[in-house]
Amino acid sequence: MNRNTLGEARTKIVATVGPACEDEKVLLELVQHGVDVFRINAAHGKTEDFARILQKIKNVRVQSGYPVAVLLDLAGPKIRLGQLVQDPLDVEVGQELVFVRGAYVEKPNELTSNYPKLIDEVNVGDRVMLADGTIMLEVIDKSKDRLRCVVAVRGTIRSRQGINLPGVSLSVSSMRPEDIENALWAARNDVDFISLSFARSAQDVASLKNLLASMDANAMVIAKIEKREALKALEEIVDAADGVMVARGDLGVEIDVAETPVAQKRIIQVCREKMKPVIVATQMLESMHHNRRPTRAEASDVANAILDGADACMLSGETAIGDFPVLAVDTMNRIMLSTEQMLKDVPGNSKTRLNDRVHPITSAVTHNAANIAEAIDAKLVVVATRTGGTAWVKAKQRNYIPTLGVSDSEQTLRRMCLFWGIMPRKVDRMENPDDLVADVTKWGKETGVLLAGDRVVYVTGTGLLNQTHNLVFVHEVPK
Ligand code: PGA
Ligand code: MN
Repeated sequence: MNRNTLGEARTKIVATVGPACEDEKVLLELVQHGVDVFRINAAHGKTEDFARILQKIKNVRVQSGYPVAVLLDLAGPKIRLGQLVQDPLDVEVGQELVFVRGAYVEKPNELTSNYPKLIDEVNVGDRVMLADGTIMLEVIDKSKDRLRCVVAVRGTIRSRQGINLPGVSLSVSSMRPEDIENALWAARNDVDFISLSFARSAQDVASLKNLLASMDANAMVIAKIEKREALKALEEIVDAADGVMVARGDLGVEIDVAETPVAQKRIIQVCREKMKPVIVATQMLESMHHNRRPTRAEASDVANAILDGADACMLSGETAIGDFPVLAVDTMNRIMLSTEQMLKDVPGNSKTRLNDRVHPITSAVTHNAANIAEAIDAKLVVVATRTGGTAWVKAKQRNYIPTLGVSDSEQTLRRMCLFWGIMPRKVDRMENPDDLVADVTKWGKETGVLLAGDRVVYVTGTGLLNQTHNLVFVHEVPK
């Protein structure tokens, strides 16, 4: 599959790398089937492992000719059980379990965690969720060194399982030492996106951004919304972050799963208003871990995320440990293509969106370029962008005409891998409109994308007004 076609899905695909797809050949196939961003989950492995994967992704960039981007997902303050005496341990309703201090336990019904202050910060009446929320404990008694819980929903407990404490405010810092080490590695290795798990406040996001700024790193910070506290501070978090992930896996445990669909819609809406890219994650094609076909509900889930306004959908275990990683990507891509047909006849949002992060002239010019493109049935819109800012204005308008985001910066090209409807394309010269037209026309003719008589709308700048895109022009491809 050639990625340089105007028929590409506009919605982007983020795929998690793991044992099922780590082979370079499989990674290449995933890109050919539509992956735009590879996620490396820092919860598994160390920097040597990330470096090995990154090298393969770099090779795949060369082999595919596609500037596929990389997201490093920091585990953040995820609380986990310690070692159990009896592992696994089946627990029944009414059975008593006790959290104790320290790193070791002696009895089968004793639990410990990697968060020393757990016993201090959890109170009688709080719920402790284990095994992705499938097991529920209720805290019935608390003393200085012990937290007595009773099982309310049964299941099988295993060592190092994740612990969710819905509604409990923890004083744990937003980054553990290993998160900082991983973030520094990402900064040194030109990783495009760094996501922060369990973000609770704008301050959490700001501390990661400050760390990166101190390294002169330009990675975009993605805040993962997976706690009730994050929903409460949503507007400020979205303002502070460069992008957002609707992290439904943990969110669906931290809040009532019945509330997650509405939470997803609200998070996406806030991101649209604030012009930040947003990824919808977890269980999108869950049954494809072991099946060749998704359930009807899963197909609808991907479609509805697009209709809500997601820029990207994410695959987790489906590509990392599933039986059919390529098929999962291909399926997601096909759902995107057919869902996006619905957006085809919807004209771009008629109101120019203003946002203080983008110059109002740029917003107005980019917006009207889309209107011109629609009015003259243009084949393509070309947005010249140095930092990607103009491309995201265009992306958030959801105008269906294919858009080429051209830049002379590799980093900007990879950023645009997350922006809805923007196809990244490298050009050597972008200051001069004539050079830009020559470059794009040559590419279009070579790839067969542009034919004589096709109209192309360019959005760029005269350079006369600093920092803005103040120039729109139409070019007709000559014979
Ligand atoms: P995770 O984050 O897969 O790193 O836990 C995503 C989620 O919680 O949905
Ligand atoms: Mn999570």
